Amino acid sequence: MGRIIISAGHDLRDPGAVALGTTESKEMRLTRDLIAKELKARGAEFLSVPDYLSLTGTIRWINANSVPGDVAIDLHGNAFNGSIRGAEAFYIASNTQRQQDAQILLNALLKAVPGLPSRGVKPDTVTVYRSGLAFCRRVAIASLLIELCFIDNREDLKLLQTYRDRFAKGIADGLIDWSSSSQKQRGFPLINIRIKDNNYDEKGVLINGNSYIPSDLVELLGIKVASLPEIRQVSYGNIVYIKAIELQKFDIAVFWENQTRTVVLNLRPRTELSGSEQIMGLGNTTATELTNFIESHNQQALAKFPNLPELYIQESEIEGVNHDIAFCQMCLHTNYLRFDGQIKPDQNNFCGLGSANGNPSGASFPDPKTGVTAQIQHLKAYASNDMIKQQPIVDPRFDFVPRGVAPSIYDLGRRWIADPQYGDKIKSIMMRLYGVF
Ligand SMILES: [Zn+2]
Repeated sequence: MGRIIISAGHDLRDPGAVALGTTESKEMRLTRDLIAKELKARGAEFLSVPDYLSLTGTIRWINANSVPGDVAIDLHGNAFNGSIRGAEAFYIASNTQRQQDAQILLNALLKAVPGLPSRGVKPDTVTVYRSGLAFCRRVAIASLLIELCFIDNREDLKLLQTYRDRFAKGIADGLIDWSSSSQKQRGFPLINIRIKDNNYDEKGVLINGNSYIPSDLVELLGIKVASLPEIRQVSYGNIVYIKAIELQKFDIAVFWENQTRTVVLNLRPRTELSGSEQIMGLGNTTATELTNFIESHNQQALAKFPNLPELYIQESEIEGVNHDIAFCQMCLHTNYLRFDGQIKPDQNNFCGLGSANGNPSGASFPDPKTGVTAQIQHLKAYASNDMIKQQPIVDPRFDFVPRGVAPSIYDLGRRWIADPQYGDKIKSIMMRLYGVF
């Protein structure tokens, strides 16, 4: 946690508001002392700005004594015509993070002091100082100004003088919350973003060595992030970020340029791809890799089907189908052999194949090998016009397939199953299989 810097508004020469036998400056100094006591009791590191300093001197003192990650608060008491009550907190206008911080602080105060009305959090430009408050703007670290109550209102002043310890406790709570969240915000270094040859003004963040980019930028690339719950997102400083490497699923090349600390995205047209989405082709993985992969998602996956990885490779090779695709398709349909959908393990049906007569529980096969053979035959039916080499045809719906209409996994959506994102989902599992993320 960073340090907390507290300033009691006004100074020894400037009393601030004067009313009801007291001064704003005096009330704030007394309150500041209790807040300091609270912070000390909780082990928080804090500094108090000397009371002889004017506002300008205070700002200079804070800027000289703080480091990034510290937070600063200026305590004030309000005054109007004696009839207005309540607390309000001011933040630098148009800074949503600081607005959130102000809300944290104000909420903590209101929670600790029952009966204290809220006037809400406000941008510093709604005050009489139209150009904003110096304390919110010229302090180099995160800073807020709070008006604890109206000291020219009898009820408010009585509340403050009777329950000053509650005010202090609430402010201390709020400061500790704000300070620890401010430390977290500071924890992520900013990085640059380049798309093709364009450098973007928006920054990304580096979290645990991974590049994250703002989700609105991702949407600009034509990828609807909101509809893809499996994509890793983090919310930070009121911005939602997407893990950049996951965009590879969408045929976007992602790499890191260390010298300029830039994450570089390149959109690749699908036709330029290596062909890994083409159903007819060679797989890249070994049986051991497939075994390790599926067991990393479900430790018990192969207990009932010990030879499944080998079967996928053998059966696919006979027909010239890419076994990586077939295996990932199986992982998608069975949820890594958990069979938590409609189809049960005893059916040996690994890819949601329907039966010839439309039985709602789907097709069943006498053993795993026949189930895999049927899947490969069904894939080949969609992807090519070539004849099936391994006869007989055990795929019960082979004759229903319009041959060769779906050479790529992206063509399987709305065909194999109704889901238009079907191809993307298979691709996403393939990228995991290839260890891309
Ligand atoms: Zn004041």
